Amino acid sequence: MIFILAFSLGCVNQKISSNNRVIVYASIPPQKEMIEAIGGEKVNVIILVSQGSDPHNAELKPNQLIELSKADVYFMIGSGIEFEIRYMDKIKDLNKKMLIVDSSKGIELIEVKSKKYSNENEAEIKGEKDPHIWTSLKNGKTMIQNIYEGLVLVDPENKEYYLKNRDVYLNRLEETDNFIKGELRTLENRSFIIFHPSWGYFANDYNLTQIAIEIEGKEPTLQSLVSIIEDAKRNDLKTIFISPGFSSKAAEIISKEIDGKIEVIDPLAENYIENLKITAIKIKKK
Ligand SMILES: [Zn+2]
Repeated sequence: MIFILAFSLGCVNQKISSNNRVIVYASIPPQKEMIEAIGGEKVNVIILVSQGSDPHNAELKPNQLIELSKADVYFMIGSGIEFEIRYMDKIKDLNKKMLIVDSSKGIELIEVKSKKYSNENEAEIKGEKDPHIWTSLKNGKTMIQNIYEGLVLVDPENKEYYLKNRDVYLNRLEETDNFIKGELRTLENRSFIIFHPSWGYFANDYNLTQIAIEIEGKEPTLQSLVSIIEDAKRNDLKTIFISPGFSSKAAEIISKEIDGKIEVIDPLAENYIENLKITAIKIKKK
């Protein structure tokens, strides 16, 4: 009897689960759509940093860490998001059986690029790597491949199912990329002003320039504020983009000075594909 019990527990351990689903953890909301697209009914996806929270500064609650000990696989972003760096050792310690997949595997990180206003000469900021890899659909495709491979490792029985879903979703990403290219093809002024520079990879893909107000996590100096306003006027830019929940004095001052408006675009929306389309349309109309 004891032997049978131990045996069946052993089986359950293969896929620790509710309803026999793979328990998947990931860092940020856009990953939820990606993982559910591939994993479908075979997975339960739990996101650690909810929409509206800031993954640069997020804190995990004790009960989140306890729950994590039941996970089968964790898809980290892997591109240097601060909270992952802070918590990853702890997460590994809590659950040694859990597979940890680096979603950024195969993605080339770019430097945070935006115009620099602190000198007379506009230069580009060099140095810091941009962690917001998912705003590029190209990178999204690589992330999907990494998700697919991770799910197959923890649940090889359903490989065919994951493969089929992967290909369907990759096609949707391709279509979305074509849609955005079409939307932005004829855009003449390819610069846009944004508070937090989270769209660098998106800008790269579609030949856009993001002009960041916030520099290295700080509000701008008065001098750079003046330069951004002059640049906006010169380029006839009328929109300041911010992330949801971000209030910025600097953004308000600039929008007043250029007689423009503040518009929200969300780098962390859960509806990954739809959100990229919406963002492209908003940038087009800026
Ligand atoms: Zn960010």
